[in-house]
Amino acid sequence: MRLERITGKKVEEYLTKSKSIMIPVGSIENHGKHMPLGTDTLIPNKIVELLEEKSDIMVAPTIPYGATNTIYGCTGTVTIGTDGLAMILTRVINSLYRYGFRRFLVLNGHGGNIKAIENVGIEVFKRGAMLADLNWWLMAGELNPDWKGGHGGAEETSGVMGVDPGLIDYDYINEPMNLIDDIAPNMKTTGWGSVEYKGATVVIPREYKNFSANGWYGTDAPHLASKEWGDKMLKRMADYLADFIEDFEKTELPEPEAPCGWQVW
Ligand SMILES: [Zn+2]
Repeated sequence: MRLERITGKKVEEYLTKSKSIMIPVGSIENHGKHMPLGTDTLIPNKIVELLEEKSDIMVAPTIPYGATNTIYGCTGTVTIGTDGLAMILTRVINSLYRYGFRRFLVLNGHGGNIKAIENVGIEVFKRGAMLADLNWWLMAGELNPDWKGGHGGAEETSGVMGVDPGLIDYDYINEPMNLIDDIAPNMKTTGWGSVEYKGATVVIPREYKNFSANGWYGTDAPHLASKEWGDKMLKRMADYLADFIEDFEKTELPEPEAPCGWQVW
């Protein structure tokens, strides 16, 4: 059931049976030369479509932008920052809370969003409600270790193939990861801003474009992706979410803090 497609009256009817609402959150960002910028938004949207075949949960419109400061600077990437996402999510949830929603299921497509979502979740909990942060790509890797993947690797590439194989640029699917030791020859770039120096990791925050010649990152090379993998994985996520929603509904909501304890709402 889509919030934007029904009347307020129908929302009132829904609230007599359930206080749950799903809010998909994505990102528009570079995922390597082979992937569409909307990867982190398209995949949660597809999972929601599959979920709707087995769940009547209310779904709010997707927030398509996220916090992606590290990938900012790679052409096409848009960031609203952790503060921007926290503000938008807070205001969306605040509005929904006013009408009686108390269980907020955030279906997240992007790692950079986690901090904002969790910060908002803590505030939600203090108000006698709950937020569940559902990070699909991490959960998929737990449900099946063969699916575990990095940024723009085979896991996400398969996910996009599950949305529409025509969105992949196959001319670049065989590109190597190609991390650059941009700080110093004896400081090996190991990942998101981190370098390895004499056996220990040091984080030197900087934009991804400084140390990645391609844009994807992980041990799961994109050329290993397949539509079959994507279809199976997205369906598994939808099945999992249908179960989770059912049991999350049965949980007790926390006691709200006294009004004077409320923050920024
Ligand atoms: Zn992604």
